[in-house]
Amino acid sequence: MNIEDLLSRLGVESAASGAGLAVSTPVDGTEIGNVAVDDAAAIDAKIAAAEAAFLAWREVPAPKRGELVRLLGEALRAHKEDLGRLVTIECGKILSEGLGEVQEMIDICDFAAGLSRQLYGLTIASERPGHHMRESWHPLGVVGVISAFNFPVAVWSWNAALALVCGDSVLWKPSEKTPLTALAVQALFEKAAAKFGEAPEGLSQVIIGAREAGEQMVDDPRVALVSATGSTRMGREVGPRVAKRFGRTLLELGGNNAGVVAPSADLDLAVRAICFAAAGTAGQRCTSLRRLFVHEEIYDALIPRLKKAYGSLMVGDPSAPETLVGPLIDRAAFDRMHYALDRARAQGGAVTGGEHVDRPGYYVRPALVELENHDGIVLEETFAPILYVFKYSDIDDAIAMQNSVGQGLSSCIFTRDVLEAERFLSAAGSDCGIANVNIGPSGAEIGGAFGGEKETGGGRESGSDAWKAYMRRQTQTVNYSSALPLAQGVKFDV
Ligand code: NAD
Repeated sequence: MNIEDLLSRLGVESAASGAGLAVSTPVDGTEIGNVAVDDAAAIDAKIAAAEAAFLAWREVPAPKRGELVRLLGEALRAHKEDLGRLVTIECGKILSEGLGEVQEMIDICDFAAGLSRQLYGLTIASERPGHHMRESWHPLGVVGVISAFNFPVAVWSWNAALALVCGDSVLWKPSEKTPLTALAVQALFEKAAAKFGEAPEGLSQVIIGAREAGEQMVDDPRVALVSATGSTRMGREVGPRVAKRFGRTLLELGGNNAGVVAPSADLDLAVRAICFAAAGTAGQRCTSLRRLFVHEEIYDALIPRLKKAYGSLMVGDPSAPETLVGPLIDRAAFDRMHYALDRARAQGGAVTGGEHVDRPGYYVRPALVELENHDGIVLEETFAPILYVFKYSDIDDAIAMQNSVGQGLSSCIFTRDVLEAERFLSAAGSDCGIANVNIGPSGAEIGGAFGGEKETGGGRESGSDAWKAYMRRQTQTVNYSSALPLAQGVKFDV
């Protein structure tokens, strides 16, 4: 497929002329573009434009703002195939996942369009006669979005669709590994804005650059909310910097997600779910399954089946319909996988799979590592298809081990025992932001709030009431009498 044709159909003029950021595809490592980078002055101008856009946009009625997001959803529907293919080319996920990512954007646009008529506040009973109280939600300001390479477009839409209906403007610093998909999404946004007709200039913009570009946004007090998705390392730097200026953050960071397979589990279902969660997306989802706790009674029944299923997974060109596992993003990811497997071996792990697949790019066979001790490399997130497997005998021990890592994103249990399932979901169960029963930890729907606890950052995006992060809350008290009673019975007569 000719990348220039694909980009031009999506509305991107040229991605080969800029002097600055070279873009390569993980499919075979070749260069597919070179995009112009925003310098400090350009970023400053974009932040100023975003601030001006916010001042105008906040006065547009929310349901009307929702109409713009509905039109964005329409533009995405019309270009789903092309954008999904571009996601596959730029970040290497298989085509059905590339298309799925665009579908997720469409879903959140639909959700946000409905939400634009439901930004509900509260009425509150006042203790004073002749008074009423209420809680209102107002637009917040400029929302800065920093995104990771592995969900190059969906993460923006989770933020932008909500931020736009909430009355905010959006500035997006995509991963330096995936700027082309960001430029394509921006072109589709501009198409929707032109159809809408009344969107202020600068309502949604893209900043192209690496870490320094993100840092400039992080430090600028005109950016009210920094929503940053990426590694825990990045979050550790971004969080305190934004806090220092009393800005707001929404952090979506690394995961080290686990699954428990209990004695009553449906093993056929568990094998399929584990393969998708651990090997799918080449282990490059924040919610990928990385640790598996298998009850000793079924260990010998499950593990050979899992190894057999792993052996049958097709690794290769992510655009080919039979492929289930595409490439790793780059050489650094490949090296980190091998480093992790070496450390696991040194810890006594028995490794099955993990071999390099000989073709241009960085392709690997997913690895299963059987281990006795839950420590060392297991406690770290390695962004690659490695699944560490442990035997357990007591469910409370398995849950405690699952919870004993720094990250707290996603978790799951395979069981047909309702008491065990409910224990896993209880206050004494999984400590993660996401807990599932009889499905893997990855592949969330947009309707729920997405995010995790502890070193995953504590942020929530997407569905439920995640929209509240993009607005400011105001408590209002109105006195409709001619008396002035004070709260708590305080007397102050003048
Ligand atoms: P990364 O942390 O290397 O980069 C993410 C983004 O942060 C990039 O745009 C990068 O330029 C920017 N950045 C890096 N340092 C920065 C700084 N100091 N200040 C401002 N911006 C900075 O992550 P990656 O390799 O692109 O993605 C993989 C990681 O992202 C994994 O850890 C994965 O778990 C995580 N992730 C989390 C979620 C989630 O929702 N929790 C979703 C996707 C990915």
